[in-house]
Amino acid sequence: MAIAHCVLEIETEAAICVCNITHQLQALLSTTGIQNGQMLVFSRHTTMALAVNEDEVRLFADIETWLKKLAPPTDSYLHNDLHLRENIPPDEPRNAHAHLMAMLLSYSEVVPVIDGYLGLGTYQSVLLLELDGPRKRTVGCQIMGE
Ligand code: ZN
Repeated sequence: MAIAHCVLEIETEAAICVCNITHQLQALLSTTGIQNGQMLVFSRHTTMALAVNEDEVRLFADIETWLKKLAPPTDSYLHNDLHLRENIPPDEPRNAHAHLMAMLLSYSEVVPVIDGYLGLGTYQSVLLLELDGPRKRTVGCQIMGE
C-alpha cells in the first residue's frame, strides 16, 4: 500500500463562502498514481470546514444564512474579548462565530478512490467552507491505496 501526502493552497474571497475543491483534489490524486483506496481531506484551520455536498449557488446562500442563524456574527462572545486574552497577535480577529460554525460542520472528509478517480456521487462535490475570510487557506490531503 502507498501513502501520499499533499497540501492544497486556496485563496478564499469572502468572509463566509463555499469553494468547490473537487477538481484540485482530483488533480492531486492523479499525480500520485494511486488507483484504488481512500483520500482523507483535512482542514488545517479552526475556522474553515469541509463538506461533501452539492455545488449549487443558491444552496451556498442557504448554507450561509443557516450558519448565521446558528452562530450570529454580531452576537457577544467571550472569545472576542481580546483585551481579556493573553498572547494574542495584534491582528487577532474577533471570530468566535466562525469557530462555532466550524464545530457544527466537519474538519475532514474521506472520499473513496476508485480506478484513479474520486468516487463521488453525481451531485456530490468536496466543498471548502470559509467561515472567517477572505484568507489564504491550506487543505491537507492523505491518499492511501495502491
Ligand atoms: Zn479565534
